[in-house]
Amino acid sequence: MVTFIQFSERQRQIVEIVKSKGPITGEQIAGLLNLTRATLRPDLAILTMSGILEARPRVGYFYSGKPAESLIADTIRQVLVKDVKSVPVVVHDKASVYDCIVTMFTEDVGTLFVVKDGGVLVGVVSRKDFLRSSVGKVDLHKMPVGMLMTRMPNIITTRNEESVWEAARKMIEHEVDALPVVRTFSDSGSEEQLEVIGRLTKTNITRLFVELGEGNY
Ligand code: ADP
Repeated sequence: MVTFIQFSERQRQIVEIVKSKGPITGEQIAGLLNLTRATLRPDLAILTMSGILEARPRVGYFYSGKPAESLIADTIRQVLVKDVKSVPVVVHDKASVYDCIVTMFTEDVGTLFVVKDGGVLVGVVSRKDFLRSSVGKVDLHKMPVGMLMTRMPNIITTRNEESVWEAARKMIEHEVDALPVVRTFSDSGSEEQLEVIGRLTKTNITRLFVELGEGNY
């Protein structure tokens, strides 16, 4: 859980004072604001914990020089994939293209993850793949989805402990709308086998963006 800090008016005043007069003691800041040192203690604690101010014993407070934007960046990079991911929607590689299109509608998703027996990730199929298949003369009821999916090892994946920021960069770089959240099977043979444990989509990221903006994430 990440707390998105919103500074109070008094905390902003303290930062301005320390910026222009630092290093400065808590006692001196209190004097300038006509407040007691005890009243300021929680504000100073928040400002030092968040990294805006630094405190040195017997010297006082000084401004860390870290702009507010880089603090926002730090906050964003702390949000992990496991904090925002959705439940994955998977289909079997032997399922027909027709059944997968129906699943896409009923589950209201734009990307399906394809698994083989044992739940091992073998591919990904998206709206565009189905559109492409509908242009050719294929029997949607007979053709298995495994024939038109994008297959391993070309699947871009993410993991629970990866930052959402890192995963979002992968989506932009590879121009895909969703990433399967995976973990490695412990009993894998020579090749790494992946199990799908979640789904990260652009919608998850948009929702996170809104919540960060509202300061209630
Ligand atoms: P859409 O088809 O709705 O535009 P995408 O842009 O995500 O969705 O998919 C574009 C292509 O990339 C499709 O061929 C799809 O199979 C493939 N694709 C989708 N997600 C991934 C992924 N995570 N890794 C690799 N390829 C993917």
